Amino acid sequence: MSQPVLKVEHLKKYYPIRKGAFSKEKAVVKACDDVSFELRAGETLGIVGESGCGKTTTMQSVIRLIEPTGGAILLNGQDFRAMKGAELKQARQKIKLIFQDPYSSLNPRMTVKDIIAEPLDIAGVCKDKAERDRRVLETMEQVGLDLSYVNRYPHEFSGGQRQRIGIARAIVLRPDVVVCDEPVSALDVSIQAKIINLLRQFQHDLGLAYIFISHDLGVVRHIADRVLVMYLGRVVEEGESRELFAHPLHPYTRALLDSVPRMDADGRPAAALQGDVPSPADPPSGCLFHTRCPYAKEVCSEKVPELRECSLGHKCACHFAGALPLNAN
Ligand code: SF4
Repeated sequence: MSQPVLKVEHLKKYYPIRKGAFSKEKAVVKACDDVSFELRAGETLGIVGESGCGKTTTMQSVIRLIEPTGGAILLNGQDFRAMKGAELKQARQKIKLIFQDPYSSLNPRMTVKDIIAEPLDIAGVCKDKAERDRRVLETMEQVGLDLSYVNRYPHEFSGGQRQRIGIARAIVLRPDVVVCDEPVSALDVSIQAKIINLLRQFQHDLGLAYIFISHDLGVVRHIADRVLVMYLGRVVEEGESRELFAHPLHPYTRALLDSVPRMDADGRPAAALQGDVPSPADPPSGCLFHTRCPYAKEVCSEKVPELRECSLGHKCACHFAGALPLNAN
């Protein structure tokens, strides 16, 4: 098997907070706690969970948009966390980001050409203006943007076209890893499929590895090879996409799947996930999911379940993984 392009080990991002507005007592929000994964060329890792589950903090820590509190990040075998200055600048060419919102992520005062060329300019990789223009036009062609748009501004484009500009900006330096942060959630359903297919095409052509962050399990199922399910900053289930969607082990994963809008066998809306995500400033004891879990027993509020391998490559953090009935009711 090939070496991972990205290896993340026990990644942590903790935020110290005050317990109350007038309290001196300190607490820690564990926005990303002990997250580990590997990513190989041509592979897509999906990270799913509700809003506030830690997906975005994990992604921002991995690419060092924010500095992690602990853990290791190896990019092509090199210690990414230890890098500084020119070495970090060089390494950042290999890991790029596609933002969620194509409406706010593009500078309205820059032309399409300058937006796509910005990473080339920062990296200083083009020997002259002719090479810069050639690489911009080549990338525009790859993402299906009409070359006559090169001097236009973002407001002149639809959401789908703006996301194509965002993708062009992310791939123009030919990175190894692209982090896609909810890249289609702001787009119409009809456009989503086109953008997903475009991402898959690049993966096939350029061997890109993706981290695909989404709350939409339907989209993740379609694109991801492996999936991490996160809850309150921790990974609660991990596995091959096909296996995880066919045989979800963790009650939270099952609840997320049940929350995907659909009708059950009787034609009634399927059960949604009950209750709200607890405050990360005051998380539940033991299993973080026990306040919402229909299977919770006494031990669940007392003991933190380990993320353990239940079948080959399929891990779950539940005291009763593999022993739960298929339905709570
Ligand atoms: Fe539910 Fe207990 Fe499993 Fe947590 S450990 S998911 S509370 S059954």
